[in-house]
Amino acid sequence: MACKSNEALQAMVEEARNWTTKGKVADYIPALGLANPDDLSIAIHYPNGDCFSAGNIEKKFTLQSISKVISLAFVLMERGKEYVFERVGMEPTGDPFNSIAKLETMAVAKPLNPMINAGALMVTHMIEGDSVAERFNRLLAFIQGLSADSKVSFSKEVAQSEYETAHLNRSLCYFLKEHGLIEEEIEPLIDLYTKQCAIEMNCLDLARIGIVFAMDGVDPESGKQLMPSEVARICKTFMVTCGMYNASGEFAIKIGIPAKSGVSGGIMGAVPGKFGIGIFGPALDDIGNSIAGIKLLELLSKRYRLSMF
Ligand code: GLN
Repeated sequence: MACKSNEALQAMVEEARNWTTKGKVADYIPALGLANPDDLSIAIHYPNGDCFSAGNIEKKFTLQSISKVISLAFVLMERGKEYVFERVGMEPTGDPFNSIAKLETMAVAKPLNPMINAGALMVTHMIEGDSVAERFNRLLAFIQGLSADSKVSFSKEVAQSEYETAHLNRSLCYFLKEHGLIEEEIEPLIDLYTKQCAIEMNCLDLARIGIVFAMDGVDPESGKQLMPSEVARICKTFMVTCGMYNASGEFAIKIGIPAKSGVSGGIMGAVPGKFGIGIFGPALDDIGNSIAGIKLLELLSKRYRLSMF
């Protein structure tokens, strides 16, 4: 897909880039620590195929937590919402994304929502298939369809790096297994989850996925319904209430669009009925969101009055 470099966007990227020095690249997954903290790029994809960009939009990054909203869409389609929401809740937590605290203090250990790690692990657990490879390939094919890019794959290096260090995610899984919510062995689940988080793409692909959510599940090129509109609606609602971790409230006030971030520094935005956004800026704030990416969205939202509220 051709994406035109745009001067107004470029100016906003340069302004937002000043914030990268205040952030820090995630290194609790060692392979992510290799990213260049100064990077910042954006692509905006419109329903008619127009695409505007700024920065090095060819650079690839892993989805990390952005994958949570896509795997949610996938299991909602496979299992239906009753099955899914019996096992994972719909409420924001106000806690960091990897917190175990609420699992222990709630009467039922069910994770509060699918955007925190505990809930995302539950969702990945629900992906059907006989082996990790089969389950992963089915999810990957769905993502290739959303991004209209059959070459989208995963980074073996990042997956391996997270697999070797995912002790806290293992703890969350064992806790959920103890309470009967997770029924499979934990190692294959961590294998699947770390591969899911390591799915790799560039800003263009991410903006292309964003527009499918923005257009209620419809592929803007073929007009095909890639996911039911109700699934897209549920996902966008989670993006608003929990998509930016425990900064989702502030993000809704300052920016006001459905968005999902990942610790790689990616942010996917879906402006309902208007366009999809893909951002990459690996320097993160304390909460784990791209610090310059958020600034860039703030500039965009103010300038083009994007807030849906
Ligand atoms: N793979 C990461 C983890 O589970 C994803 C977290 C994130 O992007 N916030 O820790």
